[in-house]
Amino acid sequence: MSLTSDEKLLRLIKYLPMMIIGLFVTVIISVVLNENRHSLKDSISTLRSTFYHDQKELLQYRISNILQQIEFEKQSTESILKNNIQERVGDALSIAYSIYQQNPSLDEASLTKMITDALRDVRFNNGRGYFFIYKLDGTNVMHPILPHIQGTSLWDLTDVRGSYVIRDLSNLAQAQGQAFHRWWWSKPEKLEQEFDKIGYVALFKPLGWFIGTGEYVVDVEQDIQERLIERISDYKYGEGGYVYVLNGQGTLLSHPSSTMVNTERLNMRDNNGTFYVQEIIETAKSGGGYVEYQASYTPNGISQADKLSYVSYIPAWDWIIGTGIYTQRVEAFLNERQANLEQKNTNELSKIIGVGLTASILLAVISLFIGHLVGQRFVRFQKQINADFDELKATKDKLQYQALHDELTALPNRTYLLDFIDQAKTKSLFSGKSLAVMFVDIDDFKKVNDAFGHSIGDQLLAMVSERFQTLLDDHSIVARFGGDEFVFCFSEIDSVLEAEQKGLEICNAFSDVFQINNKVVNSTCSIGVSIFPQDASNAEDLIAKADTALYTSKALKKGHVLFYDESINKQVQYELALENELRGALEREELYMLYQPQIHLNSERLVSVEALIRWNSPRLGQVSPVELIRKAEEIGLISKVGEFVIRRSCEQLIHNFPNHPEAITLSINVSPNQLLEGDFAETLTAIVDEYGIDHRRITIEITENVLINDIELVTPILKKVREQGFAIALDDFGTGFSSLSYLCNLPITEIKIDRSFVDKMLSNQQSDGLIKAIVAIGKSHSLKVGAEGIESPEQHQRLHQYQCNLGQGYLFSKPIQIEQLVEFHKQNSARIEYES
Ligand code: C2E
Ligand code: MG
Ligand code: MG
Repeated sequence: MSLTSDEKLLRLIKYLPMMIIGLFVTVIISVVLNENRHSLKDSISTLRSTFYHDQKELLQYRISNILQQIEFEKQSTESILKNNIQERVGDALSIAYSIYQQNPSLDEASLTKMITDALRDVRFNNGRGYFFIYKLDGTNVMHPILPHIQGTSLWDLTDVRGSYVIRDLSNLAQAQGQAFHRWWWSKPEKLEQEFDKIGYVALFKPLGWFIGTGEYVVDVEQDIQERLIERISDYKYGEGGYVYVLNGQGTLLSHPSSTMVNTERLNMRDNNGTFYVQEIIETAKSGGGYVEYQASYTPNGISQADKLSYVSYIPAWDWIIGTGIYTQRVEAFLNERQANLEQKNTNELSKIIGVGLTASILLAVISLFIGHLVGQRFVRFQKQINADFDELKATKDKLQYQALHDELTALPNRTYLLDFIDQAKTKSLFSGKSLAVMFVDIDDFKKVNDAFGHSIGDQLLAMVSERFQTLLDDHSIVARFGGDEFVFCFSEIDSVLEAEQKGLEICNAFSDVFQINNKVVNSTCSIGVSIFPQDASNAEDLIAKADTALYTSKALKKGHVLFYDESINKQVQYELALENELRGALEREELYMLYQPQIHLNSERLVSVEALIRWNSPRLGQVSPVELIRKAEEIGLISKVGEFVIRRSCEQLIHNFPNHPEAITLSINVSPNQLLEGDFAETLTAIVDEYGIDHRRITIEITENVLINDIELVTPILKKVREQGFAIALDDFGTGFSSLSYLCNLPITEIKIDRSFVDKMLSNQQSDGLIKAIVAIGKSHSLKVGAEGIESPEQHQRLHQYQCNLGQGYLFSKPIQIEQLVEFHKQNSARIEYES
């Protein structure tokens, strides 16, 4: 991820939650606001409708309440009337009785006068009520309203419906003492109408009278109506609430405005031209209900006449009763309530928004804080990751460098080299120039390591690398190939001469000694060179061929430059084949032993044989023992081969020439490495003992080289060998840098003069003199002296003359099979015997 997108992500982590919260809160608040606005609208409309509804209900309730009262009053009219007249008649009766009792002596007439005088003028019920007195036979005793009927019998008087009024009253009084009675009478002012009248009579026994009174029901009703009108007129509720009453003709019976009472309003119109009084009457008469109109009357504080009334009708009384509310008042109230509601709503909203904003600010701060923490951690992780990446990259670079460079010298390694050669090859193909691959090996580097230690060896390699690098130009590199091996690649080479020059420069890099830790190290190198394109077409092959040339160069002579050619290749191929074949030769029993007789020159007796190995390879033919031994040493097979030689020769010797004081002895060649590897002395002793051969019959032949190179190591081994009674011969004496000190200090028992001296002794004065000297030295050190390669009787003669002890050569016998040796031995013994 790029840096900018990381920063964007970081900003996103930090601020996104806050933005989401902000957005969320905004949405919530707007939803709440919207909801609130709607709910306020709903509340207001509910308030209005509920209020209007309630008000209407209230109006209706008030009217129905008043109607109930009226109904109640109406219902109780008869009982009021009855109670009233019963009470009155009771009063009258008490008065009559008290007069009668107070005046026991008075006669009927006097009593009648006193009682009637007392009762005549008594009026009640708004002056309508009066007492009448009749005798039980129907004769009128007193009638304050109709005094002319006094003394007349009204026994037969009937009401408008034909009932006998006085007769019935009399009968009731006589029968029950006191009783109510009803009859129908027409009033003088309304003759066409019948009026229900209720009367009450009580028997006044002392004078045989019944005293009574009567009242028109309608009059009582009239009283009640008046009383109710009065009450209704006084009835006020709320702010100027009142009840009005109209009669069916539109006359106002009750109204707070006294001037309007008893005025006829039927044709009243409001501002809209509506006959609203008529509408009120119609609505009331058709079951009652609500009427909206503009009233002509407005109470104090009301300026608008819009009014809503509930009206109802009382058919019995022809009354329209109504009450109403002024819209202005309701509206004022509603507006106030609405304002309250709005205020309450605003307060709630403020609270919600306040809480919401506080919560959101809190959340935003928390989210900002968390975002900040997360961001910080992110940055920390990112830094850590970057650091890890850097480390990883550094490690990768290091690994890449290591993959392509040598650790010790920091030179490019094999992989790098291969790549370089491939690229250089392509370039040289274009430029038409050559490419030289030079395989360099430090001569005897192992010895430097052994002598000075590996640390010095490593430092030598580093210093060599530094010197090598000074030889490079832009078109060349040097790589460390492993161990003490380096490979140069020079591209853009014009000629073989130039390549040779480069090779010499590399060799010259060793001309100055190396000063390492106060030690002086002398070294040289050997170089094998291959050239592109003639020697090989690819890097691997070029290196392999340079290596082949190096190998051969080293084998020939160290410290030189050798260019690869086909003969070298063949040699190397042969060496490879030799190695391969030798590895299986022992198992395949391709190796066998020949024996070359050694003759005592004085007696010409066969005294000893030298065991010589032979290898008949099916693939390579007869392989020289020198090659075989060299290769065996090279590939680490020398101990095995050496053991085979000792074992086989011991076996064949003891088998054909058992131990005997005169028995022939056996010389076994031992190569330097064989002598140094493992426990040579012990192995030799073990095998010789295994075959039970007298130790004195065995001589080991060693070359001078082994003494020169490894004298310290070799000396104790030779001593052990010698201690075991084995003899030790110094083979090929004179070819190496023989030192007389060996002869003195080492347990040598014999020296064998090299064939080359014997070969030239007859023709070369120097060789002849040398042989003489060697024999003399041998004698002086009490050593046996043998000579190899005696081919002619002259040589034999001369050596004998020089008192050389033993002779070996084709003159006597070539190396031969054991069977032939046995034969040779027989003939020799026979000849010696014959001659003696
Ligand atoms: P060497 O030990 O000096 O053996 C003597 C060599 O001289 C033998 O060669 C022998 O055949 C040869 N020779 C003897 N008389 C004459 C002669 O009159 N004229 C000529 N031209 N040559 C004569 P060979 O068998 O080829 O062995 C060569 C070398 O190989 C030996 O030299 C010895 O160093 C080595 N060798 C042979 N067999 C063994 C072995 O079993 N072990 C070891 N370590 N080395 C062996
Ligand atoms: Mg030998
Ligand atoms: Mg020899």
